[in-house]
Amino acid sequence: MDCLFCKIIAGEIPSNKVYEDERVLAFYDIDPKAPVHFLVIPKKHIASASEITAQNSGEVAYIFEVIAKLAKELGLESGYRVVTNVGEDAGQTVKHMHFHVLGKRLLSWPPG
Ligand code: C5P
Repeated sequence: MDCLFCKIIAGEIPSNKVYEDERVLAFYDIDPKAPVHFLVIPKKHIASASEITAQNSGEVAYIFEVIAKLAKELGLESGYRVVTNVGEDAGQTVKHMHFHVLGKRLLSWPPG
C-alpha cells in the first residue's frame, strides 16, 4: 500500500519519534504549528476517523491513553489540543488516521 505513514511505521521514511509500542507511533510533525506538535498514529492502517468502527475503535481509545501520558511527560499540563482532520474539506493530506497534539502556546478557537 502506498501510504506515507505506513512507510514511517516500517522505518522506510525517517521520523523524530516521541513514543512507540506495538500498537501506536508518536512522532514530531515535520512542519510544526505550535512549540510542541506531534502526531499519534495507529500501526494498523485506518484511512481516517470516518473509518472508525466497532472493530477498530479500541485503537482510538488507546491513542487517547497514549496522548494523556505523553502530554504529562512533555509538560503540557496547562493545556493542549488534539485534532484529527477528516477528508478534503478539513485539509487531511495523509490518508492514514492521525491525531495532531499541539501545545505550549495559546490556541485560538474556533480553528480556521
Ligand atoms: O492533518 P493532515 O493530514 O494535514 O496532517 C498531516 C501532517 O503530517 C502534516 O502536519 C505534516 O506536516 C505531517 N507530516 C510529517 N512527516 C511527514 C509528512 C507529513 O510530520 N513525512
